[in-house]
Amino acid sequence: MAKPSATIFARILDGELPCHRVYEDDHVLAFLDVFPLSDGHTLVIPKERVAFLHQLSDTAAAAVGRCLPRIARAVMKATGAEAYNVLQNNGSAAHQAVFHVHFHIIPKVGDRGLGLSWHPSSLTQDRGADLAQAIADAID
Ligand code: AMP
Repeated sequence: MAKPSATIFARILDGELPCHRVYEDDHVLAFLDVFPLSDGHTLVIPKERVAFLHQLSDTAAAAVGRCLPRIARAVMKATGAEAYNVLQNNGSAAHQAVFHVHFHIIPKVGDRGLGLSWHPSSLTQDRGADLAQAIADAID
């Protein structure tokens, strides 16, 4: 797996590669995806260089969380989209290609945007109780 310091997004942060920047502050950069699923497809990244969401510090996570709604509002206003998806992939099996945490804001306009294949199962009472307890116990 590539080290976060070697990723394309790290090189954008370092000014080695260009981007179409839409927002920047001390902790966050947002720019257009160069292979957009729809017009306005935007990536929001922390400046902290970690690969996965669960590795983010509270400070970086809070900074990203604070600006995501503002950037989403701007994307909708600029594109006229009335619907959008926020996508955040972790791990190759989950379709992550760039190993620096990033959130996609993907406007849904007509048939352009994120396509989803969603195959839900059903949560039984027992399994739900066990899983909720296991996850609650694992929270640090
Ligand atoms: P993911 O599959 O969640 O890791 O998504 C990575 C995203 O980064 C893809 O949507 C790519 O189109 C996008 N991407 C790759 N290289 C660049 C780049 N140089 N500038 C902007 N977006 C990029």
